[in-house]
Amino acid sequence: MADDFPYAELWWRGVGKLAVIALIGAAAGAIFGYSALGALAAVLIFVLLQLRQLIRLRAWLHAPKRHFLPDAGGIWGEVFDLLIDLQRKNRKRKKKLALMLAEFQASTAALPDGAVVLADRGEISWFNTAARQLLGLRAPQDLGIRIPNLIRHPSFTEFFEAGDFELETEAPSPINRNRMLSLRIIPYGNEQKLLIVRDISERRQLEAARRDFVANASHELRTPLTVLRGYLDLMEMDTQGAGPLAGWRTPVLEMRNQALRMEALINDMLKLARLEADRAHMRDELLQAPTLVARAVEEAKAVSKGQHRFEQMVEPDLLLLGGEIEFYSIIINLLTNAVRYTPAGGAIRVSWERAGDSARFAVADTGIGVAPEDIPRLTERFYRVDVGRSRASGGTGLGLSIVKHALEAFDAQLEIESEVGVGSTFICRFPPHRVQDAASAALAAAERGADPD
Ligand code: ADP
Repeated sequence: MADDFPYAELWWRGVGKLAVIALIGAAAGAIFGYSALGALAAVLIFVLLQLRQLIRLRAWLHAPKRHFLPDAGGIWGEVFDLLIDLQRKNRKRKKKLALMLAEFQASTAALPDGAVVLADRGEISWFNTAARQLLGLRAPQDLGIRIPNLIRHPSFTEFFEAGDFELETEAPSPINRNRMLSLRIIPYGNEQKLLIVRDISERRQLEAARRDFVANASHELRTPLTVLRGYLDLMEMDTQGAGPLAGWRTPVLEMRNQALRMEALINDMLKLARLEADRAHMRDELLQAPTLVARAVEEAKAVSKGQHRFEQMVEPDLLLLGGEIEFYSIIINLLTNAVRYTPAGGAIRVSWERAGDSARFAVADTGIGVAPEDIPRLTERFYRVDVGRSRASGGTGLGLSIVKHALEAFDAQLEIESEVGVGSTFICRFPPHRVQDAASAALAAAERGADPD
């Protein structure tokens, strides 16, 4: 044996003891002339004593609280001591584990987020107090039930079946439709999952309140501004002659420019608020994207006033499904940005083409470019690399935020490539389910026309 347990010593001790007992028995028997019988009787008594200890041990193992292990000498004494020691250690470990479990349960119970432990097929095996309150789970009835059977919202079912747990989803609480929950799944261990549930109703309400405030404030500001602009337009005309207002020409012009800027800002703020509020409700129409691109290019050319060279590569039969206002916001913002951030003499290349099953709209310019560290922040509201330049060219700082939100409504992505002093390319990728072919769209329309059902 590899370990250092003293087998041999214990054997010799045992055999030695038996021999001594047999000898004593034989000596006692010899007094009566029966030494062999004496030895046998002594060994028998020894065996019976062993049996007694064994039975005591058996009784103690059966119910350790009711029976006790006696003080014994020899191997039995050692066995009993070792067992009692083992029992004490076990008790200590059990107490420690129970304490840890109680602490764990107390801390998860105090957690504001719901936590649900799921087995490999999504069966509930444990949940905390918050999960009970948020999802209405009950123990023990709901233990072992698959979670999609309890959270029966399509967004959660889809999310759970898809199994892409990098993402998270949102669904109303099964016990209170007014409470919005964010649901995340974290896989761990052997096919197990932890579902984390968070109540985001308040955050949603705050966002809605902020959006409503911006939309209402912008809307309210519009009317007084229109009145001011109307008078400023009139005054501007009056300052052109040699009348009493002639000296006011510059201030009136400046006031009118500022009023125009404010108008642009309010319009952009309203647009953004609408996009944020109605993202899911964009009305899908079949858009004649090539026509819309051509119209936006004409508008950009008007802003450019002939200072830039325009190139166009437009696939005439590439149509798009979505909202016209949203699509036009995207392309006009990218085009006017290209004009505003490209010095006179530069070139602007616009393309609308297929890229595999997707569609790609891109605006490339030979303008001032953007430094790599600024690129990720361009779509933030009011983020401008150079505030002075943006304002001077009529920018509101909201253009790319509008682009980003409008693209989200199309499930589309924005990519920005840029180099300072060389130029920038803004690319929008529209997914296949948004792309339509003019020929097949016409065919479908003809079929609908021929078959009134
Ligand atoms: P702004 O009204 O200021 O143009 P945007 O949201 O449209 O607001 O753009 C944000 C910032 O991104 C701009 O201020 C500018 O610094 C930068 N930017 C946008 N388009 C371009 C471009 N084509 N070339 C260089 N910089 C750009």
